[in-house]
Amino acid sequence: MRIEQIYTKLLAEHSHSNRNKHHIENPTTVLKGINPSCGDEIELELREKEGVIEDAAFTGIGCAFSQASASVMIDLIKGKTTDAALKIADVFLRMITNKITDGEQLAVLGTALAFRDISHMPARVKCAVLPWNTLESALNNEGDELNRDP
Ligand SMILES: [Zn+2]
Repeated sequence: MRIEQIYTKLLAEHSHSNRNKHHIENPTTVLKGINPSCGDEIELELREKEGVIEDAAFTGIGCAFSQASASVMIDLIKGKTTDAALKIADVFLRMITNKITDGEQLAVLGTALAFRDISHMPARVKCAVLPWNTLESALNNEGDELNRDP
């Protein structure tokens, strides 16, 4: 099997899997991301404790690219510190705009490297970056702080 086929299979698996698509218990941040050009809408839920993302998941609707990207992202960031998650998001967003091509730097992305091939498809790039942009905003405290005192 060629590497591209492995990636295609992986993305298909993620876009159909509901493993990371659900609500989590006691989220500390919930943030919605919308990509109007495709109609993708995801809602990211995170539970952070002492600087670590204890749990994460998403709900919403969208195309296979946005759904698979969200699922792959959740796999990568769960259990990581918020700093590490932001770093991964930064590398992903720069990979997909072809600003990083260095294999060593990209290694942190793991399975998310599967999205590298769509960097030349601008409409699809918007779908793939949606969850990552939402994550960056959420970790930079632009989401709803659910546990804040009224
Ligand atoms: Zn889309």
